[in-house]
Amino acid sequence: MKEQELFEAIYETILSRTAKYDGLYYVGITSTKIFCRPSCRSRTPKRENVRVYGSIQEAIDAGFRACKRCKPEVSGLHGPDAELAEKLKELIHHQYREALTLNTMALQLAISPYHLLRVFKRVTGLTPSKYLMNYRMSEAKKLLLADQKAIAEVAAETGFSNPPHFSSVFKKIAGCTPQEYREKMAEEGERLK
Ligand SMILES: [Zn+2]
Repeated sequence: MKEQELFEAIYETILSRTAKYDGLYYVGITSTKIFCRPSCRSRTPKRENVRVYGSIQEAIDAGFRACKRCKPEVSGLHGPDAELAEKLKELIHHQYREALTLNTMALQLAISPYHLLRVFKRVTGLTPSKYLMNYRMSEAKKLLLADQKAIAEVAAETGFSNPPHFSSVFKKIAGCTPQEYREKMAEEGERLK
């Protein structure tokens, strides 16, 4: 393959942000002097600003600093682990309305719950159930603000088994009840008008 073709192929993988190539090469961005894993989601570098390095040391020698977001210098986040974490995030984003448990999620990904927990925590710093809860919360907040749906409806649409459970979890995380949150945000919206 000609050098230009090889570069184009690599550039395509950078745009696709797949974790498959993490650890195989590193992407230096000349405009920021930062280097990243190919899967980094921080930015979409311009073609002319991209330099490709085969190792971390080469990137550092060329004057680049490691990206704080994708942490290319931290081992154990590369390849299959990062990919598994992505898969679980996708699953959660699609199925958060349903009753998910660590076991049912692990079953769908065809791995052991223990392995899933360990890998996901290492890659993201969160347990799968914490990530799921955060995601449900952010979706619930969107629904609360979007229209005047009843609290029970919002609870059901974001995977909470019942409204009281939803309210108590919401209060614990957001510091107020769903109703209070809605009122507070409405007031703030008024103030900004
Ligand atoms: Zn990065």
